[in-house]
Amino acid sequence: MGDAPIRVLMIEDSPGDARLIEIYLSQATTTTYRLTHCTTLDDGLGRLDRDEFDIVLLDLKLPDSSGIETFEQTYARAPDVPIVVMTGHDDAQLAFRAVREGAQDYLVKNNVDAPLLNRSIRYAIERKHYEEALRVSEERYALAISGANDGLWDWDLEEDRIHYSTRWKEMIGYDEDELSIHPEEWFSRVHPDEVARLKQEISDHLSGRSLHFKHEHRMRHRDGSYRWMLSRGIAVRGASGRPCRMAGSLTDINARKMTEQQLLHDAMHDALTDLPNWALFMDRLGVAIAQCKRRDDHQFAVLFLDLDRFKNINDSLGHAVGDLLLISIARRFRAFLRPGDTVARLGGDEFAILADAIESPSDATRIAERINEELGRPFDLQGHEVFTSASIGLALSSTGYDRPEKVLRDADTAMYRAKSLGKARHAIFDQDMHRRAVELLSLETDLRRAVTRDEFRVHYQPIVALSTGVLEGFEALVRWQHPVKGLVYPEEFISVAEETGLIVPLGWKVMHEACAQTAAWQKRFPAGQPLTVSVNLSGKQFRQPELVRRIGEILSDSALEPSRLCLEITESMIMEDAESAVDKMRQLRDVGVELHIDDFGTGYSSLSYLHRLPTHTIKIDRSFVRRMSERNGKSQIVGTIVTLARNLGMRVAAEGLETADQLAKLRQLQCEYGQGFFFSKPLDHGDAGRLIASTAISWVVAMRSSIRATRVSRRAINPPIS
Ligand code: C2E
Ligand code: MG
Ligand code: MG
Repeated sequence: MGDAPIRVLMIEDSPGDARLIEIYLSQATTTTYRLTHCTTLDDGLGRLDRDEFDIVLLDLKLPDSSGIETFEQTYARAPDVPIVVMTGHDDAQLAFRAVREGAQDYLVKNNVDAPLLNRSIRYAIERKHYEEALRVSEERYALAISGANDGLWDWDLEEDRIHYSTRWKEMIGYDEDELSIHPEEWFSRVHPDEVARLKQEISDHLSGRSLHFKHEHRMRHRDGSYRWMLSRGIAVRGASGRPCRMAGSLTDINARKMTEQQLLHDAMHDALTDLPNWALFMDRLGVAIAQCKRRDDHQFAVLFLDLDRFKNINDSLGHAVGDLLLISIARRFRAFLRPGDTVARLGGDEFAILADAIESPSDATRIAERINEELGRPFDLQGHEVFTSASIGLALSSTGYDRPEKVLRDADTAMYRAKSLGKARHAIFDQDMHRRAVELLSLETDLRRAVTRDEFRVHYQPIVALSTGVLEGFEALVRWQHPVKGLVYPEEFISVAEETGLIVPLGWKVMHEACAQTAAWQKRFPAGQPLTVSVNLSGKQFRQPELVRRIGEILSDSALEPSRLCLEITESMIMEDAESAVDKMRQLRDVGVELHIDDFGTGYSSLSYLHRLPTHTIKIDRSFVRRMSERNGKSQIVGTIVTLARNLGMRVAAEGLETADQLAKLRQLQCEYGQGFFFSKPLDHGDAGRLIASTAISWVVAMRSSIRATRVSRRAINPPIS
């Protein structure tokens, strides 16, 4: 207890009793007392509020209060100060009750002497001290139970000292005796980014704004690394509600935090290249747009890039090498872009770059040029030397965007433009492109409606045997009977139908109708040679797994002999995946249908494949037929193709036959079939039916006359079409 005087508050109204106590206290030899005397409870409670005391000597019978209430009021006002009650000898019951309720001791007034009073005071103070210590340790124990692995701390706010548990110290790499009791041992180790927030949370709790204190922050370990910790705590408040202590725990949440951060990273990055993904890119783009709105001079550009011929690399060298290429490209991009720029992989072979805070649009075009320089340097991938290039579309902030999706959409549109200009190019988005893109979009919507409303019609263009002039059959060509625009031709909608996949249902419909119509003609005109019908297959349709089955079904539905159906396939469809195309074509041949290669000469068909293709007929593209009359090398091409086909055991058909001169030349070359405006434009089914009925006798005449004279008036031989 030291040498400091013990501060005693005596609340006693009897002057005699008060005097006696005063004398007894002054007789003490080992202790000095500083006595404050009040005669009413009200007075006494006021002193308790104002001053600090080590003990209260309390008479239970006062002018303004008596009985147990006197004790209760005093205890409530100062629960931390020990109280010794004083009663008359007839009031023993009352004294016991006060002790049960928290008084440290009682004295019967007439039985008191100096040593007894001294001892009672000293024990009362000590007991109170132990009681308090016990309570504190009980609280600590409760916290300890809440997390055996947690570190504990107990902060005496009045003294501003913190007791840190051994575990607490151990968690940041220190031994029991290594840290002081200073709060800075904690705060100085908190990550600078989080310390202010931590202090704020503590003060919020202390001032009663939060029920608990809880904060996640990083703490510096002795080894210099930072680990994520959770600090939790609760304040212990005095009777006035003022916090005097705060105790809590420290939990290591590093593993959980790392997992969380990894998950967050994964959600925002591409797994293969570890570049930001679409989601993160859009987020950063959103920030750049907001910057532009705040500051007039802020500019950015988005570059959308698609690798040229990536599919070739994948197909020829395998996906593993393709992946390696993407990873190496990501590395090169990272190396030359400025730290503030974002390069993201959007998927497949598509990347996007956000060049933020650029000075002028030329900064962006320079980046585009740089990209193709970088991609043009060889990549060494598992011993394969690979070069590549990209088609790049640029969208500039000067267009005035309000949404990230619009920027990316425009950059994408510009990329398509760049691609159509040739490989390794870049194009900057402009409003014209936007208009075209909008038109395309509305076409797509229109087209979807047309499929459900059945607005498509099949027209038939005659194919004639050139040696005899006999009608061999028809090519089925689709038209769109648009409710507003009238008849729309394939070149306006086929490519969009391809892109959107609508070509598949459309193609089946055409095939179905063409087969049914041909079978119907067969029935109506049984006398002549059975007609054939050629149907164009789209690439998408050709790749359908159920292709062979569907064709079988259509044939049996329409009761058309399989050999009467010719499928027109283009070279590019075959060359996209030659191996499986050959396989598919064999299956089709086994069904019994004929296979024709359409637009021959325009694709990149390799001659080494041509002999392996189970094809019956090659259709020479009309561009070659047209050039036949020219006096240069190009006119020879048709002859070369005819010879080639003959050597491979295939027949030849010529498309776009427009003049008698072309007819004569083709006959000379012994080209088997012809199709073109010279004979007839494509006809609707009614006109085509009439044409069959009238028979193609006039063509036979034309054949004969073309042998006699090369110049024949077209009108004279045109079939009568009513
Ligand atoms: P294609 O298969 O090469 O069809 C021949 C095209 O040449 C037809 O154009 C035809 O009208 C046109 N043509 C015929 N004779 C002459 C001529 O003497 N001179 C000129 N300049 N042109 C002639 P169309 O009907 O506009 O079809 C264009 C393309 O659309 C077709 O080319 C074909 O690739 C595609 N197509 C048409 N219908 C379908 C279909 O049902 N499915 C699929 N997948 N594609 C189709
Ligand atoms: Mg065709
Ligand atoms: Mg063609």
